[in-house]
Amino acid sequence: MTPALPRLAPGEVWLVGAGPGDPGLLTLLAARALAEADVVVHDALVDPGALALARAGAQIVHAGKRGGRPSSCQPDISARLVAEARAGRRVLRLKGGDPFVFGRGGEEALALAAAGVPFRIVPGVTAGIGGLAYAGIPATHRDANSAVTFISGHAAPEASGLDWEALARGASALVFYMALRRIGAIAECLMAHGRPPEEPAAIVCHAATPRQHVIETTLAGLGEAARRAEPPAVIALGSIAAFRPRLDWLARLEA
Ligand code: SAH
Repeated sequence: MTPALPRLAPGEVWLVGAGPGDPGLLTLLAARALAEADVVVHDALVDPGALALARAGAQIVHAGKRGGRPSSCQPDISARLVAEARAGRRVLRLKGGDPFVFGRGGEEALALAAAGVPFRIVPGVTAGIGGLAYAGIPATHRDANSAVTFISGHAAPEASGLDWEALARGASALVFYMALRRIGAIAECLMAHGRPPEEPAAIVCHAATPRQHVIETTLAGLGEAARRAEPPAVIALGSIAAFRPRLDWLARLEA
């Protein structure tokens, strides 16, 4: 039985996570918003399969960014959302993964709040959990870790403002987003602070899409492995990565 879902009303904006790829990971609320929106403003990372669920006649606007290069700048996107809502349209802002995880959803929500535009946040499956799951890597496992840290690897380690000494300590799993370009330097930094070079690691490219590709490596091997990887990718570091050979369910289903 389908639960009673709220409607996307004219003049409202829904900030929705589309998950990492597979349209099957869309929430019921995301599917509802796609079926009702007059305008869908989406990122580059949103899978075409998700957009295919948009109502016939909906306006589809690409406001994506790729590799850190904005094709529309953030204030423009927020202003566009406000303008569309004020024009009485039903507005769906669709983002890859979860809108509040490294997705600038917070900034857009703040702009909507400041403009007095009614909005709803619809969480999605974030790449650092769902993308890893598609590679057979649990974000936590009782035998491996009781903490997991999500890290933006966008900035150089020395410029990131992160406490690398603290991140290197302990058995916490580290999951990096946007890190392909910097992971070599990040790995050096973690090893310099005492994280073991042989620690298991995995790079999951195009997770939960037909192009999914996983490189199994170690902390010391990450820099070299990243040169063979293709964005978007999430990187898992820690003994959780060692579960993959036993838990690669996708390869088994496709065999
Ligand atoms: N809001 C998104 C993250 C946006 S930041 C989320 O919650 O998942 C963009 C980064 O997300 C990429 O650089 C990559 O690290 C990660 N990412 C998003 N989709 C991905 C996918 N299908 N496979 C691997 N990584 C992905």
